[in-house]
Amino acid sequence: MYLKKIEMKGFKSFAEHTEIIFKPGINVVVGPNGCGKSNLVDAVRWVLGENNIRELRGQKSEDVIFNGTDKFRALSMASVEIVLDNADGLLPLDYSEVAVGRKIFRSGESEFYLNKARVRLKDINKVFTGTGLGKCGYSIIGQGELEEVLNGAPMDRRLILEEASGIIKYRQQRDEVKAR
Ligand code: ATP
Ligand code: MG
Repeated sequence: MYLKKIEMKGFKSFAEHTEIIFKPGINVVVGPNGCGKSNLVDAVRWVLGENNIRELRGQKSEDVIFNGTDKFRALSMASVEIVLDNADGLLPLDYSEVAVGRKIFRSGESEFYLNKARVRLKDINKVFTGTGLGKCGYSIIGQGELEEVLNGAPMDRRLILEEASGIIKYRQQRDEVKAR
């Protein structure tokens, strides 16, 4: 599995429709301070369901919507779609490409999409749990997070290992059954 494409409109500093294509292997994003490199990573986290706005360096959920500059008016909606290559079938879906989308409006309401069909966040979580891109995933390592792994509480470290080994989905299924 690898990230093939990111498409955005109105997400943070990406006011205009932006499409970025990635190739298999290592891709490097470079640019001056403040040009949007970290915003790009925030977009990937956000589309995968990150709801902790502090993790996205904001204070309230609508902070991810382009809030205007001297030249451009603020927008009322942000949308992001990522396309993942699934030729290796790592994601439990019968598609060789999987598109995950998310939209948010100033009202604060979020919509999620899987291959263009409207889904719940729960459905997105199910697809990515145990792949390294799920909650407690290790595919995106933010600044300072390496330290968290090294110095973290035993339970937090355990969750990372459970995600890496793919057994976290069984924990979640068990917790769901227990909660019934
Ligand atoms: P550095 O090299 O310093 O890490 P960077 O390329 O990672 O920089 P980002 O943090 O991605 O930069 O981008 C920061 C810019 O994004 C700031 O100029 C900030 O004003 C802008 N920004 C963040 N949120 C919004 C928003 N909602 N609307 C418009 N601009 C935004
Ligand atoms: Mg940065």
